[in-house]
Order: sequence, then C-alpha cells, then structure tokens
Amino acid sequence: MFKINLLVLSLLFLTSCNKSKEEEETFTQEVIIEVSFPELGSDGPYEVNKVYNGVGNYITYYPGNSPIILSAPHGGDLTPDDIPDRSWGTTVTDTNTKQLTLAIMNFLDTNHNIKPHVIINNLKRTKLDANRDKVEAAQGDISAERAFDEFHYYISKAKEKILTDYTDGLFLDIHGHGQNPDGFYDLRTWLGYLLSSSELDQSDEFLDTEFDISESSIYGLVNKSPEKFSEVLRGPNSFGHLLEERGYESLPSIVSPSPEGMRYFSGGYNTYVHGSVETGGGISSIQLEMPAPGIRQNSSQWNDFASALSEVIIVYFNVHLDIDLVN
Ligand SMILES: [Zn+2]
Repeated sequence: MFKINLLVLSLLFLTSCNKSKEEEETFTQEVIIEVSFPELGSDGPYEVNKVYNGVGNYITYYPGNSPIILSAPHGGDLTPDDIPDRSWGTTVTDTNTKQLTLAIMNFLDTNHNIKPHVIINNLKRTKLDANRDKVEAAQGDISAERAFDEFHYYISKAKEKILTDYTDGLFLDIHGHGQNPDGFYDLRTWLGYLLSSSELDQSDEFLDTEFDISESSIYGLVNKSPEKFSEVLRGPNSFGHLLEERGYESLPSIVSPSPEGMRYFSGGYNTYVHGSVETGGGISSIQLEMPAPGIRQNSSQWNDFASALSEVIIVYFNVHLDIDLVN
C-alpha cells in the first residue's frame, strides 16, 4: 500500500478588478491520492498451463514443471504514458528476444514435453530495465517499481518450485547484442558466467587451480558436475560448444575459449541475483546474448535456434546435473 502526498494545490481565485479586496479568496488544499497494489503473490498459487500477467500486464509469468527458468528482461514493447521514460542508463531494446524466449518455451513443450518457467518483461526498456538494480531499473516510478518487484517475485517463486521438486535448476537470462560501437558485428552468442574477459583469458590450469569458482554464476552446477571448471566453461560439454555443434558460434567454447580483447558481456544483475554465485545454491544461471543475424531476425530463425537450444539444455542437464529432462 502506498500513500502519496501527490501535490499541494494552491488555488488563488482572483476576482475581477473592480471587486473589493475582501472578495478575493485563497484556497489551499492538500490532495492525497492513494495508490494501492495487490500484495505480491495474491495472484497465486501458480499453476502449470495458466498464465499470470501482473499489474497492468507489464510482467507475464508462465509457470513450468521442469527445473528450467527462462527470462526476457529487454524484449518488451509496452510504453504506458503513466510511466515516465527512464532518464539515465541504457534504453536499447533487445529486439525479438521476447519472441525468441517464447519460441524456446513452445519448442521445449511441444517437442520434448518440457515446460520451463518463463518470465517476460513486457515493458520497453525506456520504461523498465529488468536487468539492473531497482534504483536504475525503475528510477523511482511506482508502477515501474511494482513491475520490477513482480518480475523478481515470479522468478523467485519459480526457483522455490524447482528446489521443491528437484535438487538443481538452471536460470537462463535471454538477451540480444548488437553491433559493437566500432561497427563490427560479432556473430557469436556470448555466454555470461560472471567471469570477466580477463578472467576468461586465463589458462585452463589457472581456472581449475587458482580461480575462486564461487565468483561464477554456475558455482553450484560446477560443484555437481563431474567435469572441471574449465571444461564446464569451454570443453566438449560446455554450453558454448554444444551450441557450436548445432551451428551457432559461441563464446566461450572450444573454438573461442576467451574474448581475447574483444567486446563481451559477462552477465548482469539477473545472472548475479538468481544464480549460484557465492552461495553454491541449487539454481545456477547463465546470461545468453544472441546476435540478431541468424537467430532473431525472423520467426524461422528463432524457431531453428529454439530447436538447437532445447537440445543443448537437455544434454547440459544430463552431463552436469545428472538430470534427465526427457523422461
Ligand atoms: Zn539485454
């Protein structure tokens, strides 16, 4: 419940010039507008095959029944007038990442009978950046703050459900990267595990013996995996190599083990707060940054990518978490 002293109206009623001073009246009135939102969770409990849309339809939650969470924080297109444009930070939309995320959801369901949990931010990034802390994300607007709270609440509920039904899970934050500032377009998918470029530039031996793996968003997964940290990042069963085998160049992978000075996104707010960094918890996270060409320019591209990514997810769970998603 919010109570806002919206404004103090001072109304000065001036009478016409030829009336006496005593007839001039001044009114001062305080107007209190109450803005109230339903309590978070009041639209629950969340059931598979139902859809939950939050206040204003700004955030959509498709509950799942598998240990997979997908989110699309930067693919929305709603620009409600009552939410002012954000005045600082990045405002670029990750074009078609909402469509891409829904295509992955539909492909997993239709072809593999796997229902991931999916959380979509429908607001355009000019109104809410759902991959920043709340201050930068919503910039003080109460409706944007509510959408921010719902976005993370739904993810939290998905995580709770997964940890009730499974030992482990994976949260994939779906993004799109554009051309580099110098005009070069890196057509690789960038996988963010919260390792900086310079950390990925280290040798396998360094990563396996010297590096503190609790700094990675897949800390929990690496503890479960039979593979070494460097292998999970860029070996034959790494997320990147599994994508490469299906025709999608990726970084890190066997072919591209590290950025080597190239532009690269290592993972943002969502990857940090919803993965297993520092905690080693059951839900790990990866930020996926897809280029537009070949993946998200049209429905045939994003459906093909959805097919490949679905296979990658199934293999990845099998190898690293010993979870068979298909049976
Ligand atoms: Zn993004």
